[in-house]
Amino acid sequence: MTTYITTPIYYVNAQPHLGHAYSTIVADTFARFSRLKGEDTRFQTGTDEHGDKIVEAAEKEGVTPREYVDRISAMFRNSWPPLTIKPDHFIRTTDVEHIATVRQILQQVYDKGDIYFDEYSGLYCTGCERFLTEKELVDGNCPDHQKPPQEITEQNYFFRMSSYQQQLIDHIKANPDFISPERYKNEVLSFLSEPLEDLCISRPKSRLTWGIELPFDDNFVTYVWFDALINYLSGLGYPDSANYAKYWQVAEHVIAKDILKPHGIYWPTMLMSMGVPLYRKLQVHGYWNIDETKMSKSLGNVVRPAELIEEYGVDTFRYFSLREMSFGLDASFSQKNISTRHNSDLANDLGNLFSRSSAMIEKYCQGQVPSPGPAIESDERLQETAQKMLSQYNTAMADFTFHKALQAVWELISHANKYIVVNEPWSLAKDEAQRDRLHTVLYNLAECLRLLTLVLTPVMPTTSKKMAIGLGLAADEPIICQLQDGSPWGLYPAGNKLQAISPLFPRLEKKTKKQTTEKKAAASKKNKKAVIEEGIISFEQFKEVDLRVAKIVSAEKIKKSDRLLKLTVNAPETRTIVAGIAEFYTPDELINRLVLIVANLKPTKLMGVESQGMVLAAKSELAGETRLVLAGVADAVIAGSKVA
Ligand SMILES: [Zn+2]
Repeated sequence: MTTYITTPIYYVNAQPHLGHAYSTIVADTFARFSRLKGEDTRFQTGTDEHGDKIVEAAEKEGVTPREYVDRISAMFRNSWPPLTIKPDHFIRTTDVEHIATVRQILQQVYDKGDIYFDEYSGLYCTGCERFLTEKELVDGNCPDHQKPPQEITEQNYFFRMSSYQQQLIDHIKANPDFISPERYKNEVLSFLSEPLEDLCISRPKSRLTWGIELPFDDNFVTYVWFDALINYLSGLGYPDSANYAKYWQVAEHVIAKDILKPHGIYWPTMLMSMGVPLYRKLQVHGYWNIDETKMSKSLGNVVRPAELIEEYGVDTFRYFSLREMSFGLDASFSQKNISTRHNSDLANDLGNLFSRSSAMIEKYCQGQVPSPGPAIESDERLQETAQKMLSQYNTAMADFTFHKALQAVWELISHANKYIVVNEPWSLAKDEAQRDRLHTVLYNLAECLRLLTLVLTPVMPTTSKKMAIGLGLAADEPIICQLQDGSPWGLYPAGNKLQAISPLFPRLEKKTKKQTTEKKAAASKKNKKAVIEEGIISFEQFKEVDLRVAKIVSAEKIKKSDRLLKLTVNAPETRTIVAGIAEFYTPDELINRLVLIVANLKPTKLMGVESQGMVLAAKSELAGETRLVLAGVADAVIAGSKVA
């Protein structure tokens, strides 16, 4: 059996955050699980490096696109080892092999007649550097730039995506697992129930040069999605390599839901046109929601994996992300959730089981795991839980329901902890006649720890290694690194000696600054908590919020922050507001704009600047790209007007 698992290649216009880390931890865990099953496994991640967003970001920093992508791509690549993420291949869309493959595929699809040249008329916003749809306009204006887009006609190349619409529908219906979880399959099918338009796959060089030149027309470069998706093939050495022959047929792509359309529609139709079999499965996960008041660093609200590792340790972070999110649904991140998981699941349940069991083996048997005597009912029930855990774990891991796999593992941990309480080894040790019984109990505990070491390997590789050392087992012993060999009960070699190790998960006692801030925020919110839980507020409560129209009179970047702008607004009094929009607006284009603000928000200091209120913005998620779009009013009004 073989496994080929991929993450999306990450767009390098920002640094890695929690979302990137999650997709990559998922793929790494799945790759490790496949290896645990003895499968020949390949895991690929990488970076997506072309397109106008990159040019923009590079310009902002005053470097060339090439320098910019080299730097950010390295940042991504260097983020993975601290998370014990070990890809077999890291691909960059600026790799020469990738570029050659993209050009070869374009030529092939073009020769087949699936790419045509056509004139396209549309509404082009020079500020956005893209065509807008009628639906996006607000009163005829680009909502971001407050001016009407120009009707322009442009010639471009188009991919006949529409020709493959029915074939794709048939494929999805014939292969119910093709897109998983089911909600996303339904989303794609619902999209396909409308006529599919052809896909514009070129950009004229007059607009963009940072891209892969079309092989049949050097006046154009390739649209980033047509370029990026091909990484899954080019990374294997398509079309002639042994890796392609071996792995492509089992390809599973892990993605976040924002890029469902390119992966669920563009990519399979591209493969159909190329005559390449479709990938086997698309695994789609949800978003991490971050409580804004809790992540108070800036309005940008970004969680950096490196900070979490430093604070909690890499395995706590890996465990938390896999346990907390039900794959496919959104999950909520907070410092409180992660420290609760650490203290309760890891320190109390797993850590205690390990330290209590090994301490008793040390105390009563000089650290040597004794041979078990005959099993009684209590032992048999523990064994049954272990076998049940293995079977649930296998199904859930294969199914990407990591939280269920971990629930099953924790059922064994909690059963083993109860087993200690029920069997009272300390009482058995006082009675020489109970020697056999004591040995059985201690052996069974060591055996549970061995099974836990085995199944936790994909999720917490570092902890698993440490447990193996504590159990006196070599890391490459099949009974802890081969799922099939290691699954039967009773494989721990009796007579083997344990080794002393430090506690697996020391409790987080000391409160960090972040947690303290978070506690305060939680306390001040306490009386409003019930309201938040119900999801409904009263009109009185709504009236408490002072919403107003404000006019921006000046804007400047805040030093040392790439997200924050310092705005001076009239509302009608003059006040300063710090807004996390620097990635999306230049100071110049903000002057004289009318925006909506919350005027009675408690002032707070951001990067040393006091912010007297908050500017409202919509979080727009389009084609895999998140941006903040300022909220405004439909007509000109006087600054300071109330909004209600
Ligand atoms: Zn615009």
